[in-house]
Amino acid sequence: MRATTLLRKALSIQHLIVHGFEFDDRGIVVTVAPTNRVPRCGECGSIARSVYDRRQRYWRHHDLAGMMTRMRYPIRRVRCPRCESVKTERVPWADSSCNFTYAFEERTAFLAQQCSKTAVTKLMRIAWRTVGEIVTRTVSEYLDKGDDRIDGLRHIGADELSYRRHHKYVTTVVNHELGVVVWAKEGKNAATLRAFFEELGPERCKLIETVTIDMSKAFISVVKEMVPHAKMIFDRFHVQRILQDALDKTRRDEVREAETKEQKAILKNTRNAIQKRESNRTDDDLETLEELRANNSHIFDAILLKDSFAAVLDKRQVNVARLNLEQWAVNAEASGLVHFQSAAKTIKNHIDGILEYVRTRFSNGRTEGLNGKVRTITRRSFGFHSAAALISMIFLCCGGVEVTPAFFHPLGFH
Ligand SMILES: [Zn+2]
Repeated sequence: MRATTLLRKALSIQHLIVHGFEFDDRGIVVTVAPTNRVPRCGECGSIARSVYDRRQRYWRHHDLAGMMTRMRYPIRRVRCPRCESVKTERVPWADSSCNFTYAFEERTAFLAQQCSKTAVTKLMRIAWRTVGEIVTRTVSEYLDKGDDRIDGLRHIGADELSYRRHHKYVTTVVNHELGVVVWAKEGKNAATLRAFFEELGPERCKLIETVTIDMSKAFISVVKEMVPHAKMIFDRFHVQRILQDALDKTRRDEVREAETKEQKAILKNTRNAIQKRESNRTDDDLETLEELRANNSHIFDAILLKDSFAAVLDKRQVNVARLNLEQWAVNAEASGLVHFQSAAKTIKNHIDGILEYVRTRFSNGRTEGLNGKVRTITRRSFGFHSAAALISMIFLCCGGVEVTPAFFHPLGFH
């Protein structure tokens, strides 16, 4: 077998001729050409016989036996009769605007979905920003295939997440039934979420039964406006945050009012132990709690209020949970703790949406750990410069996008 035949098989690209190869300081360069002699327009695919010029171009393909592999071809620019302008010809191995082969991009996208940032950049030997660009192309192709992702949605959750150190936001919508992100857009205000429902249109909006959101006024007003028939569920994570904040504020007040330095230091160190879930506390944490019970009844009462609230949300029966929640609010108001009194007010104002959680158990955080996954991606995406790249990464990893890495087919092509 000749070396060029071996290379053609190893490159594993259809409609490709291998003319020769050489080595340079970076790896192997394979001289190739498409099998079609008559060029086609890269934009519309029309036959375009009139060649305008040729330019040497290189495409990265995946490594052959660990060698960086590039393909070289003097690509033609053609006068396209249909586009009525000069266009780059279509080649079978890559998008005409792109310096990586399809196979290279598929492999990169697959790795980006499965592996760490370091694994992708080192294995593919490209910058993280380039990974972002490749992911954006792969995902937009997937999304272009149709908008059936937002068809037949019944139970959804909308959430905002910050990136770039809380300077920028992306709003995501998840399908609770499938546990996938179905929509995402830059921004976090009412207009952002409204854009989702507008895209959904009135017919599909009618199908929506529940929407899980945080208690922000912006989201509440949009849900009331766009899907007034749907039940609003307040996301458990966000609801519990109110109590955590109240506890933390109470603790800080106590630190401020402590009389001695020692007392201050002891109270400061309690943050970790008291914020934990009841079930996650260690023996050391419990000891801390015992000390607080003996020395600082305010913080101890605050912990009890926070913990007992979480216990109410664990209830299975809505009517039991309602009674418990009402009793909880009475206790909070009677506690004399100002931050819990104001938390109780918020809870009472949103009680129906909180109880919807008990009924449905839908919560944005719980959807297959989706929320955590999205947040991890956001951290990984540091270095992406646009919201588009971050959104693409979210879709790639949480949107049910299927990518299959390209494989070598020894007998596939002749
Ligand atoms: Zn054209």
